[in-house]
Amino acid sequence: RAKERGKNNFQFFTSDMNAETFEQMLLENSLRRALERGEFELHYQPQVATATGKLAGVEALIRWRHPELGLVLPATFITLAEQNGLIVPIGAWVMREACRQGRAWLDAGWDFGHIAVNLSARQFSSGDLLDTIRGALDQSGLPPRMLEFEITESTIMHNPQESITLLGRIRDMGVALSIDDFGTGYSSLASLKQYPLDSLKIDRSFVTGIPQDADDVAITEAIIAIAHKMGLQVVAEGVENSEQAEFLRRAGCDIAQGFLLGRPMPASEIARQYIEMEVRKAVAAH
Ligand code: C2E
Ligand code: MG
Ligand code: MG
Ligand code: MG
Repeated sequence: RAKERGKNNFQFFTSDMNAETFEQMLLENSLRRALERGEFELHYQPQVATATGKLAGVEALIRWRHPELGLVLPATFITLAEQNGLIVPIGAWVMREACRQGRAWLDAGWDFGHIAVNLSARQFSSGDLLDTIRGALDQSGLPPRMLEFEITESTIMHNPQESITLLGRIRDMGVALSIDDFGTGYSSLASLKQYPLDSLKIDRSFVTGIPQDADDVAITEAIIAIAHKMGLQVVAEGVENSEQAEFLRRAGCDIAQGFLLGRPMPASEIARQYIEMEVRKAVAAH
């Protein structure tokens, strides 16, 4: 009897597992179809210079415009896309679309600074990354210096020696490089100087505790000091209130990004907001 029950439990367990794999398979198929049908879109979040309040750049963030579910955030599908490799074609689309949009904004006369694009580990080790980047730049005509890639410490540390070479090649094209979510990974400060980088993004988890949490304050100030000594710019992510923004400005953090400065928004909306702002300033100056 006990054996029977055990068997039943075991069957119950496996059928549960199957349901999970089945769901993953469904999601994988619909992700593939989403790419074919053009259901992905990029939203853009402003990155603002703390000293001047001027727009320094925008970060491109992927969204899935699902026909029934509406707007789906990357947390739902990016991890799976990384596991099954779909992130490679999806990421190539992101790159082409970001470069195309940047070029269109330039042609419309809007100076958005740079466009930051997130790269995942799988893309980084895919072998055709350099060709994909070159293709996106050539096809769009976006000047390489207006493109920036955000990569995490774990992506780099996966294969440090190869990373140094690959990052060097990307930077030789004139594209900027930034470390995303800095402070949460395992890269030592000593290893940092080996990488050809332009900026560090302080992880949101530290920014959240500013200015009440003494540890978060200390960590943030230390990152800013070290980054500047190494000639890197510092970006703070997840800035949600004016106390955080003011602290970061005084601490010398170069760029702030977060809901306080603007949420990720569709291309047409962010361009309209900023162009309107520029027009208002120009009118006021006359
Ligand atoms: P990330 O690159 O660190 O992007 C920042 C995330 O924080 C974004 O979430 C953004 O909407 C959110 N955020 C920005 N400001 C604030 C704030 O003030 N408070 C809070 N609570 N959150 C804020 P999102 O768009 O859901 O993206 C999540 C992650 O998905 C990204 O983290 C990135 O790792 C990944 N991702 C997004 N787009 C792409 C992509 O095109 N390719 C790849 N490989 N990964 C992407
Ligand atoms: Mg990012
Ligand atoms: Mg980040
Ligand atoms: Mg983050």
